[in-house]
Amino acid sequence: MKIARFDNGKIGLLTDAGLVDVSDIAGAGDGQWPDTAPLRLIRDFAALRPQLQAALETRAAVPLESVRLETPVPWPSKVIAYPVNYHAHGKEMGATYRAKNQGFFLKPPSSVSGPSDVIELPAVPGREVHHEAELGIIIGKQCRDLPREDWREAVFGYACLLDMVVRGREERVFRKAYDTFCPVGPWMVTADEIDQPDQLSMKLWVNGELRQAANTRDLVLDIPGMVATASAVMTLYPGDIIATGTPEGVGPVVDGDAVRIVIDQVGEMNLRVIQGNRGATEVFEDAYVPPIVKQELTDR
Ligand code: MN
Repeated sequence: MKIARFDNGKIGLLTDAGLVDVSDIAGAGDGQWPDTAPLRLIRDFAALRPQLQAALETRAAVPLESVRLETPVPWPSKVIAYPVNYHAHGKEMGATYRAKNQGFFLKPPSSVSGPSDVIELPAVPGREVHHEAELGIIIGKQCRDLPREDWREAVFGYACLLDMVVRGREERVFRKAYDTFCPVGPWMVTADEIDQPDQLSMKLWVNGELRQAANTRDLVLDIPGMVATASAVMTLYPGDIIATGTPEGVGPVVDGDAVRIVIDQVGEMNLRVIQGNRGATEVFEDAYVPPIVKQELTDR
């Protein structure tokens, strides 16, 4: 199933005709704050599935063009992100480490935005804000110390994800924490629809120019390893999101840019970039030295 959130927290299932509203089954769309209905839907999905399936078969759909899609999980307890998880990206950044010996960092849940939202660039003159196209994993069950081989138990589904970042040498979390720096969507695709998440093609364009093209087969720390590593440290909860790392080809976006991310079998998001007037901080007052110099990509 492809599960979308739309129009102020309603939940819909994607069909060829559009979205079938299942907010009543999911206990969603009643304006609650915080909107944790998606977390409970994920937790209770197995039990609710027959009702959802019946709704798919009997209810009329509303056309996708008539709704405003929102990020599928607005209140994850955490967004776990693996840095430098493709060798070619590590090479272009001149990084000597990889996610396998570095572990993860966290992005604040408040950085999560949706497919219809803009990416708001902070007012940090002299700094570049880069796009990082990533496969997002949505955790499906509460677990701790999950062995690698049991990773599928923990995964509810997948989504497209952008890990936006102000390039620099300051604390990574700080540079990646801005509002709208973690677009997730356009919906969640349940894991049963994707047999081989380690064979997914992923592409990102800016204004129609292809910037990133890769396949999840090239992940350094693989998906079972990411789930096991995170759950070794923290209890994972339904709705937690893993940003799996970006391949080579990261680069700057500026005011007015159109960013398009496509992941096979998952979906596509088209996001507009605007220059905001917020976000200045004395931390970014000094120019970033040395400048970002992309390394020559050669065989590692
Ligand atoms: Mn990243």
